[in-house]
Amino acid sequence: MSIQHHRTPKCFCPNCGYELSAATGFAKPKAGDATLCLNCGHFMIFTHRLRLRKPTSAELLKWAGNKELVAASEVVNQFKREKAGNIE
Ligand SMILES: [Zn+2]
Repeated sequence: MSIQHHRTPKCFCPNCGYELSAATGFAKPKAGDATLCLNCGHFMIFTHRLRLRKPTSAELLKWAGNKELVAASEVVNQFKREKAGNIE
C-alpha cells in the first residue's frame, strides 16, 4: 500500500474556508470517506461528487479512533505548527 495523491473538485473547508482540490491517502477517495482539512484539521466527509461536508453524529462515531485519521491528524497538526513557526 502506498500513499497516493488525487485531484478532487475544488471546494472549501466548511470550517475555515480553505480551498481544497486534492486528497492524499492509500486509495482514491469515494463517497462516505473521511478526510481532514490541511489548513485547520477539520474532519470532513466526501460527498458522491467528491466535495466535502461536515460529518453527521453517526459518522463521527464511526470514524472516531480510526488509525489512519489519527495519523493524518498528527501530520496536519505538525504542519500547522511549522507554518506558525513553532517547529518542534
Ligand atoms: Zn479548514
